[in-house]
Amino acid sequence: MKYQPVIGLEIHAELNTESKMFCSCLNNPDEKQANVNICPVCMGHPGTLPVINKRAVELVIKTGLVLNCKISKQSKFDRKNYFYPDLPKGYQISQYDKPLCEKGCLEINKEKVRITRVHLEEDTGKLVHPKGTDYSLVDFNRAGVPLMELVTEPDLRSREEAKRFAQEFQLILRYLKVSEANMEKGQMRVEVNISLCEKDQKLGTKVEIKNLNSFRVVERAIDYEIKRQAKVLESGKKVIQETRGWHDAKQITISQRVKEESHDYRYFPEPDLPILRTKVSDINKIKAEIPELPHQRRYRFKQEYNLLDKDIEIFVRNKELGEYFEKTASEVRNWAKEIEIKNKVEAQEFERLIKLSVNYILTDLQWLLKGKKVSDILITPENFAEFIVLIYQGKISSKIAKQVLGEMFKTGADPSHIIQEQDLVQLTDTTEIEKIVKQVISQNPKPVEDYRKGKQNALQFLVGKVMAATRGKASPETANKILKKLL
Ligand code: ADP
Ligand code: MG
Ligand code: ZN
Repeated sequence: MKYQPVIGLEIHAELNTESKMFCSCLNNPDEKQANVNICPVCMGHPGTLPVINKRAVELVIKTGLVLNCKISKQSKFDRKNYFYPDLPKGYQISQYDKPLCEKGCLEINKEKVRITRVHLEEDTGKLVHPKGTDYSLVDFNRAGVPLMELVTEPDLRSREEAKRFAQEFQLILRYLKVSEANMEKGQMRVEVNISLCEKDQKLGTKVEIKNLNSFRVVERAIDYEIKRQAKVLESGKKVIQETRGWHDAKQITISQRVKEESHDYRYFPEPDLPILRTKVSDINKIKAEIPELPHQRRYRFKQEYNLLDKDIEIFVRNKELGEYFEKTASEVRNWAKEIEIKNKVEAQEFERLIKLSVNYILTDLQWLLKGKKVSDILITPENFAEFIVLIYQGKISSKIAKQVLGEMFKTGADPSHIIQEQDLVQLTDTTEIEKIVKQVISQNPKPVEDYRKGKQNALQFLVGKVMAATRGKASPETANKILKKLL
């Protein structure tokens, strides 16, 4: 392609605080009833005064620290003036020239994406358009909820990079418990700025795309804009700097308005709030709250468990499942110690147990979960580890394992209880299996004949018969071996 896409992102995230940004109203994104979490302050009544939510400031600083930003010793709030029915005050308190965090970076696939700034502002209310009516309603529960805005430099070069950046940022917000960052619920909102330029030429005119409520839509909007802008440039015309919206039904972007300039908003320092001063001791306190981050977890999962990159990614993205795996692994380690005396479980064997755990968690357990929350799993990691050890020791066949796991998932019961109660222990007594094999041979003369004439399929049939006769308790390998011997 002749043109190189150049992309910068602006990402808003609602902060996970108890109360709103400048008043003590509840910040409850799950509130169903409209206009209950409101007060004179967030409704912009005359004579009311805002008070800064300290926790919100801390959460933004925490995010800034993780993104390697400079944390401003002094920052301030500004009024951004505009009218919209979901904005009761007629202005939004935001940060203009002195944001809390500036000049950071985030590494995505070994490439550094520069972060221009991270600042703090307040969210607007929500307009609701009831179907089949000619009016709109407004719900102010969200008005004044703390909102963080991140702005990147135009460092991204493809839709994959843009998506990966947004996904990694979402993951960081979740690890930090700064925001639930659920895009469907509007807790995280991505705006894409995109332009095209010819190789080694200066940057082209950018277009801003709003209303992107999923990663898939971010990708599609970028694809669409690349094609649209290339066509404009090919025909010798100029791209207009404007704000466009994503039209989901048509899968296109449409022009919404010519891009406004910052002077249109008549920003001025918020007269009702003091300068915000951050002390080194405050920053150190916030630093101490930073938990293990996604990239650190990736590295540790490789070092500690030597997992495949694709499995690590699942555990890192589904943090709770990753934690379930780690608890299981630590229980498996205890079990490994216990059976060591008899079986000499060494490091290599431990790795086999870990692989087995990963496989059962990522296939069977995830399948049973079917979108339910990890916290709803009734199986304790200890029981799950015991289950893995039973398979490892050959006490239950892989077929029985599925049955046992299903039962454990339903009731949370102990696996050894289940296999004892339901008589599911794998048959290891070869004389008993031989007895059954002999029966099968005498009852199936035709397949036996076929096998002796060289038909391999016939053996599979006979293995199936043995399995059925033992209700799955013989392992297919043992059945196979004994059949071959006796035939
Ligand atoms: P504005 O003043 O229009 O808001 P900014 O300079 O603040 O513009 O940039 C807003 C966003 O647009 C940032 O994410 C930035 O990286 C991105 N951006 C700036 N210039 C370009 C460009 N030429 N192409 C693509 N994105 C750009
Ligand atoms: Mg801007
Ligand atoms: Zn309020």
